Amino acid sequence: MTEAVKPPKKPRGKASLLEGKCIACGARCQSVCPVDAIIMNEAGEPIVDTSKCIGCVKCVKVCPVQALEMAFTAEEKRILEELAKSSAGAAVEAAEEDPEEAALRKRLSVYRGVWVFVEQTRGEAAKVSWELLGKGKELAEARDCELAAVVMGENVEELCRQAIGYGAKKVYLMDGAVLRDYRTEAYSRSVCKLVEKYKPEVILMGATGLGRDLAGVVATELSTGLTADCTGLSIDTKGNLMQTRPAFGGNIMATIICDKYRPQMATVRPHVMPMPDFDASLTGEIVREQAAVTEDDIPVKVLKVMMDGGSSDVDIAGAEFIVSGGRGMMAKENFSMLQDLASVLGGVVGASRSAVDAGWMPPDRQVGQTGKTVRPKVYIACGISGAIQHLVGMQDSDVVIAINRDPEAPIFQVATYGIVGDIFKIIPALTEKLKALKASRSR
Ligand SMILES: Cc1cc2nc3c(=O)[nH]c(=O)nc-3n(C[C@H](O)[C@H](O)[C@H](O)COP(=O)(O)OP(=O)(O)OC[C@H]3O[C@@H](n4cnc5c(N)ncnc54)[C@H](O)[C@@H]3O)c2cc1C
Repeated sequence: MTEAVKPPKKPRGKASLLEGKCIACGARCQSVCPVDAIIMNEAGEPIVDTSKCIGCVKCVKVCPVQALEMAFTAEEKRILEELAKSSAGAAVEAAEEDPEEAALRKRLSVYRGVWVFVEQTRGEAAKVSWELLGKGKELAEARDCELAAVVMGENVEELCRQAIGYGAKKVYLMDGAVLRDYRTEAYSRSVCKLVEKYKPEVILMGATGLGRDLAGVVATELSTGLTADCTGLSIDTKGNLMQTRPAFGGNIMATIICDKYRPQMATVRPHVMPMPDFDASLTGEIVREQAAVTEDDIPVKVLKVMMDGGSSDVDIAGAEFIVSGGRGMMAKENFSMLQDLASVLGGVVGASRSAVDAGWMPPDRQVGQTGKTVRPKVYIACGISGAIQHLVGMQDSDVVIAINRDPEAPIFQVATYGIVGDIFKIIPALTEKLKALKASRSR
């Protein structure tokens, strides 16, 4: 008689700090550790006592900036790989859990893959979709699963090739007249049809007007969770998407997980994630599917499409140089001073919410939590205090220059260069200097 070989126990790993990522948020990791395996050093960073760590992942989950990860020895990695390959992996895990947990794991285990919805208007993709493919690739690699794009519209096959160039291994294409213009019902039912058939673990969409509408309806239809406006995404070993976003008026960063439902859905604003490189040599598979509806099923008809005639034709979200003004500008007419500086730089003028609320600038120029997220090469903040709701919209700019007469203004904490002084003296002087510099170079 042969004895059944007991499968190896799944290694849990030990928590480990990623160098340079900790923001000393206040020892949240230490407070959740059930075995006191974490002590904080003088810089407020955790030191993990690996002899005590039990691999419960609580510190990793609570970290708002994904500065902690689970580290495995070479032998543990080998066992994990083996378990992942064999169906025994799921069985081992299930056997270790209580029956309810095991049933949950079983239900969730059929979901696999990371999807990015490619938003398009008349065949032109929204850049945020490509940014999400960059992040999606990272998540798919961490889960060792496939990155796929979903393309819907009419005559949009070219977008599939673009999606592949940005990293998608597979593209689900629904091409037809019924999907020419975005309509909630046509798109949401079609996305749900794909999800029910192929069961992805994660779906990402841009936090644009379209993406917010579609993601909300799809999540409701599928009875799953959706986290809007994420600023950070990572994934743990169980496949839980760590969705970080500002909460409570932007005063804290919360990491949200949806551990009981799949797919996990998140929206991310444009310019929050970096743009990946395009590689025309990449290859991938295009899977064609029929839309879930016909024209007769949809009561909403598109009679005429009017392209955005909004309050201004400036897209601050895509600008490389932004000169932003806040309440310190004192009056609407003073923004012409910022426009002069922006023009010399070849940039645009943005604003804080206070400036927008005062009617000095149109709402589409607002930077921040309830405005736009920007990621320019240079962001010049003029008379802006640096409230957290403003910072979340601009802190990933390559270079931040802050001009403020209050040396204690929080904007200086995120500034690459800070100028303490009166904007009404500094900005004209800066503009003149730059004009002179440009003139001397063109000579
Ligand atoms: C839910 C919620 C969402 C929000 N969303 C956003 C958002 O998307 N974007 C946003 O910006 N805000 C947002 N806010 C508002 C935010 O909390 C702040 O009130 C706002 O950002 C402050 O704008 P400000 O910096 O222009 O004004 P203030 O905070 O009043 O700062 C003005 C600054 O100008 C400086 N100053 C004045 N005169 C001069 C001078 N002559 N020279 C130099 N410096 C000078 C002052 O020292 C001061 O630091 C939100 C708030 C909430 C509650």
